[in-house]
Amino acid sequence: MTPRLLLGCIADDFTGATDLANNLVRAGMRAIQTIGIPTEPLTADVEVVVIALKSRTIPVADAVAQSVAALHWLQAQGAQQIYFKYCSTFDSTREGNIGPVTEALMQAMGTDFTIATPAFPDNGRTVFKGHLFVGDVLLNESGMQHHPLTPMTDPNLVRVMQSQCVSAVGLIDFKTVAQGETAIRARIEALKSLGCRIAVVDALSNDDLLRLGPALRDMPLLTAGSGVAIGLPANFGLQPTPTTSALPRAQGMQAVIAGSCSAATQKQVAHFKAQGLPTLALDPSRLMQDDAALTRAVTEALAWAKSQLTHPANSQTPVLIYSTASPETVKATQAQYGVQVVGDRVEHALASIAQGLRQLGVAQLIVAGGETSGACVQALGIRQLQIGMQIDPGVPWCFAHSDAGGLHITLKSGNFGSEDFFTKAFHQLATAVPL
Ligand code: ADP
Repeated sequence: MTPRLLLGCIADDFTGATDLANNLVRAGMRAIQTIGIPTEPLTADVEVVVIALKSRTIPVADAVAQSVAALHWLQAQGAQQIYFKYCSTFDSTREGNIGPVTEALMQAMGTDFTIATPAFPDNGRTVFKGHLFVGDVLLNESGMQHHPLTPMTDPNLVRVMQSQCVSAVGLIDFKTVAQGETAIRARIEALKSLGCRIAVVDALSNDDLLRLGPALRDMPLLTAGSGVAIGLPANFGLQPTPTTSALPRAQGMQAVIAGSCSAATQKQVAHFKAQGLPTLALDPSRLMQDDAALTRAVTEALAWAKSQLTHPANSQTPVLIYSTASPETVKATQAQYGVQVVGDRVEHALASIAQGLRQLGVAQLIVAGGETSGACVQALGIRQLQIGMQIDPGVPWCFAHSDAGGLHITLKSGNFGSEDFFTKAFHQLATAVPL
């Protein structure tokens, strides 16, 4: 049977792709996420494919080329609508990449109008009169003004998008959105007659996004954060059902790898320890000595994990291996060795540990940290993830099929998740109704 691909998505980073797929699954669509552009035609029976690129901060020309290549693959699978997903804080520079990628996709698709809105009210991102708020403050007061790669110093998204685009950019404001589909469609026609090809859209609540959804039914290309996704499945006649997020039955040993030093992950590591569960800390300065020292540290960590996981008293007890440390410790280590070097070394060690744990029989794995997740998924050779049930906002369980029986894996952005996330996630998997 030819798969029926309704929505084809292109995400500019990895955990952002998972976040989008999670919202679509919750709203009723069966989804997979691919790591990069697939080389084969789609075989999975799903309604959505989210292609995860790593194109947020690469040179504009590369981001455009990769995004258009992803578009072509999705079109070849019959995707009825295309969704370009970026960060809910609109992470970009004066040059791009959001604007140039949007315009390249419009050109490649021969379409003359699209929207742009990072609104995601569930995570505190709202757009009012074109201005992006993060929680209670404007984008440029949220800390994002200091971001090392994409400092956001202007909260006016019409201005920001205009600076990245050749096309004229307009606004569909909150009053229009509040009136619903007919008013939004009328505003789009009015903007088109003024020569605008892109419209930033206000949204203050999920209700706004649900009102926006029907007005986007015939728009070939959408560009947004993950929030707009909640209003789309209904356009295809789909409703939320528990079966959309069902995954195969979980089995095998359980482990957590934490390479994030973000505040939420620190609390999660402390909570796991407080339960009396087995933990092992990796010492970054040891990893920095030389390759032999790194290999020794990995081997020792895996020997420890094996002894814990195979201990008769520990059946179905997860282990945690972490490099998570306090900001002061991280700063001191970075000052000694350099931010990038120590980051790469720790990621390399944790990714090798992920491979080793898999060989030991771990089949339920939590990875904490965006970059850490990327390194582990790559080391595990995962090309495709089936998206399952949400554990906490933005973080679903996923399933990677393999000859070895498959792997349940969740990739947690550092600052996502409740304090008891690690134990809660395994409990949820154990009690879920399987496929
Ligand atoms: P987050 O999602 O919280 O940003 P990431 O995994 O994306 O987490 O980034 C954390 C980075 O910090 C990774 O590059 C990781 O290798 C590095 N790191 C982890 N532990 C330490 C540590 N103890 N000292 C210095 N760097 C660390």
